[in-house]
Amino acid sequence: MTIRTRLAVRFMLLASFILGGAFMVVYYLSADYREEEFRGRLKDRGTNTAKLLIQVDEVDTLLLWKIEHDNPVRLPEESIRIYDHHNKLLFTLGEDDMFAIAPSFLDSVRLEGEIDRTFNDREETGFVFRDRYDRFVVVASARDIYGRSKLKNEGRVMLGTFLLAQILIFLIGRFYAQRALAPVQRLVHELQDIGAADLSRRVEPGDARDELGQLARSFNELLDRLQTAFQTQKHFIANASHEMRTPLTAISGQLDVILLRERSPEEYARAIRSVQEDMHALNQLADRLLLMAQAENKVTASSFTAVRVDEVLWSARSEVLRTAPGYAVEVDLLDVEDADELVCKGNENLLRSMFGNLIENACKYSDDHRALVRLRVSGKHIAVEVEDKGIGIAPGDMERVFEPFFRANNTGGAKGHGIGLSLARRIAELHGGRITLVSCPGEGSCFTAHLSRT
Ligand code: ADP
Repeated sequence: MTIRTRLAVRFMLLASFILGGAFMVVYYLSADYREEEFRGRLKDRGTNTAKLLIQVDEVDTLLLWKIEHDNPVRLPEESIRIYDHHNKLLFTLGEDDMFAIAPSFLDSVRLEGEIDRTFNDREETGFVFRDRYDRFVVVASARDIYGRSKLKNEGRVMLGTFLLAQILIFLIGRFYAQRALAPVQRLVHELQDIGAADLSRRVEPGDARDELGQLARSFNELLDRLQTAFQTQKHFIANASHEMRTPLTAISGQLDVILLRERSPEEYARAIRSVQEDMHALNQLADRLLLMAQAENKVTASSFTAVRVDEVLWSARSEVLRTAPGYAVEVDLLDVEDADELVCKGNENLLRSMFGNLIENACKYSDDHRALVRLRVSGKHIAVEVEDKGIGIAPGDMERVFEPFFRANNTGGAKGHGIGLSLARRIAELHGGRITLVSCPGEGSCFTAHLSRT
């Protein structure tokens, strides 16, 4: 069911509830009024007849019968009966043989003063009529043919009006729902026209202040983010392919040259070492890209375990020194009294890679190839500072060094692919932390990874 029809149906149901309720109240009030009014007339007729019979000496039962029989104000199918205190029938008029009055009913009337009842569409009222010396029971009954048919008619008119109103309300509701939803329809069509290849298009916000304007603006913001993400992804793939192609081209070039003619064992050994170096760079790149993908997709906070930061740091240091034995890394556990203070929730592999990147860079981009690592704990906060006295980073590049594949002009001949720092920042963010940088060209840099203790 479309929202338009759903809205119209709900509108109709609500209106039918209110209208139906109002009609029912009116109908029951009318029915109540008809009954009350007719009983009043019945009682008046009974009282007048009893007064004539009991209080006017000149009137006997025969005369009364004649008077009442031809009375033009007689009610339809009227019957009036008057009983004395022995339940003896003193006077009867009308359909007397049709309805037998039980003595128990007369006793109940004497007890309660008045009893009203309805049977076979006839209204009947029994009441006590008091004379100076005696008490009589008057039972008057008649059929309210006119009142009942009027009520039935009213009911029919109400039902007809109700059904007609339902149809009208449904149609009007649908019409208004259609008008109200027309801008949404327009938005849907505009969005349907926007394909993945054409993310630069935006939807028309219309009246910017209403909810639909807000929705259109939210869509446009979403499209902005999608476009940026698509472009970043495209650049990332292009950069990654380029970074992979460079060592591959170098390897195949070297192999082609070496195979041109017969070489001495030393030349073969040199060529193999060079290919090995390129293979190592390729391997490192593949590892980092894999870690990046892992950090983006697979790792969630729910898979984190308790990790000792100092242990991960030592293992990252060993790994760096294994691949580059010429580097020197000093670790200083400042003010750390209890090893339990150094536990944080995280992914050990990713944290090792983050520290490894920072340590490797510090050694790589300094002439003395030395890095000083300091570990500080304060409250719930663990800070790992990786400092070097190297080439430093220009202020304009300080933020850009965290972008994927960005390499500053300061690298000289140092090998690298420009993804170590972007991966490190992503890993820190995944752990609810961040990486800050203080650097001065020619003096050195200090990268600090901020993490939270458990
Ligand atoms: P890579 O080192 O492979 O080039 P990174 O993402 O690790 O890639 O670093 C990006 C860039 O940031 C480097 O190319 C370098 O220009 C700069 N950089 C990173 N660490 C340092 C450092 N300790 N000192 C000076 N420059 C650095």
